[in-house]
Amino acid sequence: MAGYSTFGAVAKLLSPDNETGGLKSMSTLSVTTLLQNNVRYAVRGLFRENPVRSRIVSILHEHEQMSEQELQRITSRWLLRSLRAATRLSRYASLRINCSEHDVCDFVRDRVPISDKTDLLRVPLQFYPHGGRIYPWTIVGKTSGTTGTPLTVVRSVASVLWANAFKKRHWTWSGFREGMPVATLRGDLVVPVEQKIPPYWFYNRYNNHLVFSSRHLRQGCIAAIADELERFSPFILEAYPSTAYELARYLKEQSRRIPIPFVYTGSEPLYDYQRDLIRNQFEAKIMDHYGMAERVAYATECEFGNMHLNTDYSFVEIVDGEGRPTADCGYVVGTTYHNLAMPLMRYRLNDQAKWKRGRCECGRTYPMIERVIGKYEDVICASTGSPVSASLVTFVFKEMQHIDKSQVAQVAQDRWEVRIVPADGFTDADRQKLISRFRTLVDPSLKIDVVLTNDIPRTEAGKYRWVVNEYQNNRGGPGNR
Ligand SMILES: [Zn+2]
Repeated sequence: MAGYSTFGAVAKLLSPDNETGGLKSMSTLSVTTLLQNNVRYAVRGLFRENPVRSRIVSILHEHEQMSEQELQRITSRWLLRSLRAATRLSRYASLRINCSEHDVCDFVRDRVPISDKTDLLRVPLQFYPHGGRIYPWTIVGKTSGTTGTPLTVVRSVASVLWANAFKKRHWTWSGFREGMPVATLRGDLVVPVEQKIPPYWFYNRYNNHLVFSSRHLRQGCIAAIADELERFSPFILEAYPSTAYELARYLKEQSRRIPIPFVYTGSEPLYDYQRDLIRNQFEAKIMDHYGMAERVAYATECEFGNMHLNTDYSFVEIVDGEGRPTADCGYVVGTTYHNLAMPLMRYRLNDQAKWKRGRCECGRTYPMIERVIGKYEDVICASTGSPVSASLVTFVFKEMQHIDKSQVAQVAQDRWEVRIVPADGFTDADRQKLISRFRTLVDPSLKIDVVLTNDIPRTEAGKYRWVVNEYQNNRGGPGNR
């Protein structure tokens, strides 16, 4: 896909998973970096915190007061709207829409074929608007998901605002109000990776957010991060499970706790061992969420520990291997309500889930789901021996092209092997870009070998392991936790 224009760059700032590249300085936090951060967060704030977004948040709060039937009347209209928008794409052009709001759910289930990421990569012209052309005003979201295959999704401005409003609604479930202090420990690149003296954070005064560099959760830097977090005393800590866990692990080693009322996690599976330690060391209630770059499903954990599927976000089905609805574990299949720029219809995710019966004590009518989370991924480490979040590794692949599949393996203390199944057009320039992004975004001292291969085999259990630690495994170790 084409590069970013000015508008595209602004749009990129709006992405919640934005890694915000562009920090090329090799020295300490410079005035330039501080200025860049200030401009970036001011622009992002302007786009995100505006009257339209506030209005959407109010609408979402109204939905919470509605009965299921009332809400379904609204979402059925939205589903019909998505269906009509989809017929502009060649994939759905032949669909004859002979249904109304009353039977649109059945129509979609019966008549719209299921698609997945493989289809988007194989026949993009069927799914992308304007024949796949990216215009200067196009907003694109990029992901590599959990399998290391880069994917671009075209988004509408409205869908960006809606997604942000859903996140804000989830925050209010904890009693959060605008202006309360929030600390972020995700993928934001707010200081250069190689910086060795604090601050390893940036204070975004527009939102009272303290944004930490999670790449500095390493020996020599992590103590300063813990001290600053304690001093800031946020109401919410927003983190990846892996980054919150890493900090919690350090606190436990120090026999230390930092009380934070709520820890909001997402973007990775949250394993029980992580949840337990995070809850203990921060004395926090954990509010996990489930979402993805394709934005076809969104579930949020309430204060009673149940995952509620946000039925006003998208139309979600859980289907078996043959695409039939199931009450057992199945694949999550979602249809967008809010992204009419590229309406993904019945898009199947690799994630497995199951409907949970009954009502939640919180009183919300949104149905509950249970995610099925597989065995945890291996943990791979930087050259210093500090664990590296798999989410940070995904950032490396987000801007890449011409890659069908990938796998990242740690093969020695300071050496990673990046296995690539190349797509047409993969050149040495792609290889160099990949190495350079690993150095800038993960660890400047890592030795990276890019190895081209025809396939990346699954494990005996049929699992696709994107991140493997062959160094630890070969030494007979149980991993790094
Ligand atoms: Zn609940």
